[in-house]
Order: sequence, then structure tokens, then C-alpha cells
Amino acid sequence: MEVDKPKIEGLIRELLLAIGEDPDREGLQRTPKRVAEAWSFLTSGYRADMRKLINDAIFTQTTNSMVIVKNIEVYSLCEHHLLPFFGRCHIGYIPTGKVFGVSKLARLVDMFARRLQLQERLTEQVSQAIMDEIGARGVGVMMEARHLCMMMRGVEKQNSVMVTSSVLGTFRESQATREEFLSLIGHAATG
Ligand SMILES: [Zn+2]
Repeated sequence: MEVDKPKIEGLIRELLLAIGEDPDREGLQRTPKRVAEAWSFLTSGYRADMRKLINDAIFTQTTNSMVIVKNIEVYSLCEHHLLPFFGRCHIGYIPTGKVFGVSKLARLVDMFARRLQLQERLTEQVSQAIMDEIGARGVGVMMEARHLCMMMRGVEKQNSVMVTSSVLGTFRESQATREEFLSLIGHAATG
């Protein structure tokens, strides 16, 4: 389902009035339209087809070594405040004959990030999708992000970074595998 842009435009006009602004002043006249466009993009992950997204980018490869992709940029929206959280995601997995094209892992992250999210859930959805789509032996995903809802309001902890991780399969079962993952992405194991 497409977003209802005319409805969003009307709501943003109402929002501008509710905060005491004048939606008809020059700088704001096109704002409802711009916001509707932005929200259509920022929530496009609800309407993305994962199969279409990744199917042409799964390759056969007979390796049992860990594949690591570091520093995938993440931009998402927290579902509690509709404010952005953003940071980086590091992915490791052990394939069983199939690997992802590198850019597709970034697309996969984008697909889940362009929804209203909790960082914990986003991290889990990425790891589960990798596990399911290529039948990986194990997957580890770590995400480090800053939340504007914490930085701009509330506790105003400007420098705090939230770290979440999700491990599946051999990454869950084997401490050695987890430690290899953490050391490859440049994080020391912290117990
Ligand atoms: Zn929030």
C-alpha cells in the first residue's frame, strides 16, 4: 500500500497550526508536501519486496570462512518519538554455500531501517533475514547508533551510543565464533 500523501499533507498543516506556526507563510507553504514526500521515502521499507531486493545477488561460493561487512550506514526512525536514530551496522556470517553481494546487505539493512523501528528489533530483523535467505550457519549483527530522541530532548545525553547485537546459529552456540566476529569488526569481547 502506498502512503496517503494528501492525508499526510493535511496532517502536517494541522501540526504546524498546533505548534503555533502559520502554515501559509512563505517558508512553510510547501512544507506539508515536502514532508509527505519524505515520509513516503522514510517508510518505503514497509512496501519493499525482500525477495526482489536480494534474489539476483545471492552467489554460490564454497567457503566456510566468516564473511564480514563493516560500517554499513543505518538511518531509521524510532517508533516512540518518530525521531531519527542513525549509526553503523556490522554484519558477520558463516555461509553454507551461498553468499550475499555486498551492496545487497546494505539494501537489506535499508529495507528494515525504513520503517518505524526499535534498534533492538532492527538488529534482530537483519540477522534473521540473513539467516533465512541464504541458510547461513550463523549470523552476528552489531549496531551502534545515536538517537535524536535522547540527544535533542529528555535526558540529553549527547554522546551516548546505543549498541545492540543479535547472534544466531553458530554465533550463538560458540563463544569462539562470537569472539572472532567481535575481533574482526574491531570490538573487544566484553564478557
Ligand atoms: Zn525515541
